[in-house]
Amino acid sequence: MSERIFIGVAWPYADGPLHLGHIAGAYLPPDIFARYHRTKGNEVLMVSGSDQHGTPITIKAEQEGKTPGEIVTQYHQQFLDSWQKLGISFDLFTNTGTANHAKVSCDIFLTLLDKGYIYKASMSQPFCPLCQRFLPDRYIEGTCPYCNSSGARGDQCDECGKPISPVEVINPRCRLCGTTPQFKDSEHFFLKLTAFEDRLLAWVKQQTHWRQNVFNFTMRYLEGGLKDRAITRDIEWGILVPVDGFEGKRLYVWFEAVIGYLSATKEWAKSSGDEERWRSFWQGEVKSYYFIGKDNIIFHTIIWPAMLMGYNDLNLPYDVPANEFLTIEGKRLSTSRNWAVWLPDYLSRYDPDPLRYLLSINMPETGDTDFSWREFVRRNNDELVATYGNLVQRVLTFVYRSFDGCVPMSGELDSRSQALLNKAKDTLNTMDGLLYHCHFKEAIRSAMSLAQEANRYLDEKSPWKTIKQDRQASATALYVAISVLSCLRTVLYPFLPFSSQKLHEFLGFKGNVEDDGWQLHFPPPGQKLLPPEPLFSKLDEGLVDEETRRLGHVRF
Ligand SMILES: [Zn+2]
Ligand SMILES: [Zn+2]
Repeated sequence: MSERIFIGVAWPYADGPLHLGHIAGAYLPPDIFARYHRTKGNEVLMVSGSDQHGTPITIKAEQEGKTPGEIVTQYHQQFLDSWQKLGISFDLFTNTGTANHAKVSCDIFLTLLDKGYIYKASMSQPFCPLCQRFLPDRYIEGTCPYCNSSGARGDQCDECGKPISPVEVINPRCRLCGTTPQFKDSEHFFLKLTAFEDRLLAWVKQQTHWRQNVFNFTMRYLEGGLKDRAITRDIEWGILVPVDGFEGKRLYVWFEAVIGYLSATKEWAKSSGDEERWRSFWQGEVKSYYFIGKDNIIFHTIIWPAMLMGYNDLNLPYDVPANEFLTIEGKRLSTSRNWAVWLPDYLSRYDPDPLRYLLSINMPETGDTDFSWREFVRRNNDELVATYGNLVQRVLTFVYRSFDGCVPMSGELDSRSQALLNKAKDTLNTMDGLLYHCHFKEAIRSAMSLAQEANRYLDEKSPWKTIKQDRQASATALYVAISVLSCLRTVLYPFLPFSSQKLHEFLGFKGNVEDDGWQLHFPPPGQKLLPPEPLFSKLDEGLVDEETRRLGHVRF
């Protein structure tokens, strides 16, 4: 029976280009997951959008002498372009600047206010005496009260991932002028997180299928006790607070950005022609997955669930498979020091599948992993080209030349051939289970082990030699090998959609890989093949030095 799967993906701030850390952490995994479920015949909705509000945007605009609107338009376009080139298959990638998002956010705000889960209180807000302005959280810099890292901001510490409020920051400074801020009272709205503490704790305890790191991090945070949190701010960029007397204030970005999952679904439903269709992904039998980086866990395992509990009739997250971080050449990724590989740069020079391959087989699922250009070249040349690409190339070229470009007819299978086909079926089943539970790294390793086994089989059978004395034996071995290729195009499709689609066409199949289902489809004997071309290209070792040299040069 087909399942319904909602996939919410972290909303990137439209304040700069995406880098490989973003892709490995939050964008590639949901795409693999969505493609897998679509191939299974499940109903999938994958949404996200650019986060256009919040002070990262105003900071960037001030730095570049542009308006916040110009900044978000520029990067939103760039995101869309990157998704298309990398093959991240969103059903909708919108943004938080839409009238629809403001409307849905205000509805949630007013409903929670009405139910007493949001209340008004006076709050001490940092005010810079030199700049003569209230300072948004990100405009406060100082030391983290939890881990003592010196790079904490007034909203969050990137080092330990904990959300912070500006009053908690030790030795606070104004990021515009370095002055120590004063604190002045200002009236704001608060989300009554304390009201949800017991329900959240009971709910999280049941989520034993969550990744250990996500579960433990959330439990530790809950056990430390929740505090009510202000959800409005004295800023000029963002969604207006929908209450009289609050004209100068806006909804705080973390409160409204998570609502984007719901508003995007409503936008998608409206454009599908059935405005009520959003319900099918938010109510009743549907599993909701949220793919994020580990710095975002609390917002998706505590704050967003609390808002949903308060709003009451929408599904809570089923799973939040947050990834850990990707380091670059052994060092922590840093955008300010340009210690990063930028996605648009990568895509301007290389194909998407080699990157998708490396980030999948080396995914930071349960611990940080490292990206290096040397490994990128090695994995491309030794694994994609030499193992998988070469298997495809030698089978298809030989069949194309020696069997009139058609799938040959198999004779009786010996036990060696039967064992390989059994391994192909086992791989489909094993990967089914692994992908279903978001174990991506193990899944792709299992596919590559099938490719290796098929290479060994071909070496043993040597159909290019046997064809001279025993054409049927050669045809049988090639038929078995082609069947394994058919399996590989399916199981590798979630990871390597571009090369899988090519292989699908080389094998003479029509339409798209995912229409063919998650099954071992034996290509019928006589099926016409397309002239094969190499699936991957060998990369020159020289690019390792060239690319590594680009790191660390500040360019903006
Ligand atoms: Zn910290
Ligand atoms: Zn200042």
